[in-house]
Amino acid sequence: MNPFFALSRTVLLRMSRAAALGRLVQRTAWGRRSVRRFVAGDTIPVAVEVALDLKRRGFTVTLDRLGEASTGASADSYAADASALLTAQAAAGLEPNVSVKLTAIGLGEGNAVAAARLDRILATAQGVNGFVRVDAEYPNSLDQMHEIVAAARAAGRPVGAVVQANMQRSGADLERLIAASIPVRLVKGAYDPGAEGVGEMEAVNAAYLALAERLIATNLPIAFGTHDDRIISKLGAAAQTRGEIQLLYGVRSDLAERLVANGWRVRIYTPYGPDWWPYSLRRMAERPANLRFVLRSLVGR
Ligand SMILES: Cc1cc2nc3c(=O)[nH]c(=O)nc-3n(C[C@H](O)[C@H](O)[C@H](O)COP(=O)(O)OP(=O)(O)OC[C@H]3O[C@@H](n4cnc5c(N)ncnc54)[C@H](O)[C@@H]3O)c2cc1C
Repeated sequence: MNPFFALSRTVLLRMSRAAALGRLVQRTAWGRRSVRRFVAGDTIPVAVEVALDLKRRGFTVTLDRLGEASTGASADSYAADASALLTAQAAAGLEPNVSVKLTAIGLGEGNAVAAARLDRILATAQGVNGFVRVDAEYPNSLDQMHEIVAAARAAGRPVGAVVQANMQRSGADLERLIAASIPVRLVKGAYDPGAEGVGEMEAVNAAYLALAERLIATNLPIAFGTHDDRIISKLGAAAQTRGEIQLLYGVRSDLAERLVANGWRVRIYTPYGPDWWPYSLRRMAERPANLRFVLRSLVGR
């Protein structure tokens, strides 16, 4: 990797964890302007407007209330917002579909507490014929995620999970999810897998394609969460009939338009909320060239 990018990535990931700096920047108008590309806005009505616009352009949408690890009242408020999002989507004629991070609804307080908050969101989803995807996070949270999602699914809740191709455990995880009829979003993985990783990017890509093949052989709904055209071009006709591509809001809009034109169903994962600092910095770290867009927006071009 280019040494400038490597340095930028390290600095950006460090900055993403600088909570005090984040709180400060999040309050400023120039800060909000700089992340407009990746984040739909601060409030539910604005997020719903953005989702309606995406729907008019031929996409489906998953909304995500941005938030990092929370407990207590702030985890309650995150969970209440996820439910409010589902209701607002239904009221606006959108498909009610949200993603949730278990750490944001109090995984730090234990499985039972997080599962209870998730169940409130799932009950709302069930009431509006919606769906909730539980995002995959750090390696040390994956066992808890699987336990909580499996219990919710066994109780008949409309819940799905995420499998990260960069983890050695993912083949076995996928088999368990398939056996429990849990819909899967397949991604490369955004978190450092440490010693449990499959290796460099080529190995991750090969693992992704092997897991994709296994999913295509099932009759579960499939979501391929990737912007990698080379991977997408290898997925084949059966994948296109059975699955959808999911892309992050503000990333590879050219690809999104092209996939729709080629007959793919495309869902845009659209985050919103005032706590946009860590998420946006992670997106910039994935591709430091994004900094160029941010700097341009700051000088108003
Ligand atoms: C809908 C969705 C949901 C996700 N959910 C999770 C989750 O629950 N858990 C998890 O660990 N990870 C999740 N991820 C992140 C994922 O794991 C990867 O970190 C991320 O998608 C980059 O990998 P890639 O497959 O796009 O391939 P890459 O090889 O990283 O990228 C392929 C190409 O896409 C473009 N690209 C990728 N990222 C960016 C960016 N930030 N800005 C501009 N261009 C970019 C570049 O052109 C790049 O060459 C999700 C991703 C998506 C799309």
